[in-house]
Amino acid sequence: METAAGPQTDERHHHRKVKVCREVECDEKYNQLSEEARTAFLEFSYCPFCSNELVIQCSACRESLADKGYNYCPWCGCQYD
Ligand SMILES: [Zn+2]
Ligand SMILES: [Zn+2]
Repeated sequence: METAAGPQTDERHHHRKVKVCREVECDEKYNQLSEEARTAFLEFSYCPFCSNELVIQCSACRESLADKGYNYCPWCGCQYD
């Protein structure tokens, strides 16, 4: 019996760039936000919770990205949507 490829298989190949605050407390608040609110963070420069400068990260490897225009992660090679 073989398990059909679920959505998880797809997620392995499609990651996204996320813009986050390095503060752990802010990260917890961020994770409770809606998908829409998280996407809005990509346009922000500063954290709305603590005013620190936000950093762009790869959702797959969590490494910082220098540019939000990247199509691929320079660290782990995953493709962004
Ligand atoms: Zn913050
Ligand atoms: Zn990566």
